[in-house]
Amino acid sequence: MEVRQCRALNCHKLVELPHYYCDEHRELEAAYLQSRMKWSHSHDKQYAKRYDKTKRVATPIKREQHKFYKSKQWQDLRTVVLNKQHYLCQYCLTEGRVTQGNTIDHTIPINFDPTKKDDVNNLNVICPECHRLKTDWEYKHY
Ligand SMILES: [Zn+2]
Ligand SMILES: [Zn+2]
Repeated sequence: MEVRQCRALNCHKLVELPHYYCDEHRELEAAYLQSRMKWSHSHDKQYAKRYDKTKRVATPIKREQHKFYKSKQWQDLRTVVLNKQHYLCQYCLTEGRVTQGNTIDHTIPINFDPTKKDDVNNLNVICPECHRLKTDWEYKHY
């Protein structure tokens, strides 16, 4: 037999599960169960809504991004930045290392700020190693 303490204030009587209140306080039980149900229900609804929203928003954004990376505008931008930065990883440079790279990275990820996707000041050459580290980092911070 499993027991717990009655949930009524200052009542320390033990009640048998699945009850939450002793006989004396049993009328409080229905209200308690109802409030619990209401909470868990609204919680579920909230969660479902949030999940829906991410799902609905994520797909068009992904498609939009894919289109952008295929565009002439992006190819041109890429070339400009690669030439301007001499194909050198800008993240390595700040640490005094000279490493070649041919990937262009958005310093501020475009998922975070899509308006910076074609902002030259937000673009940097990055080497594979830094790219991997930065992606890990962004995953945790954005
Ligand atoms: Zn009680
Ligand atoms: Zn690097």
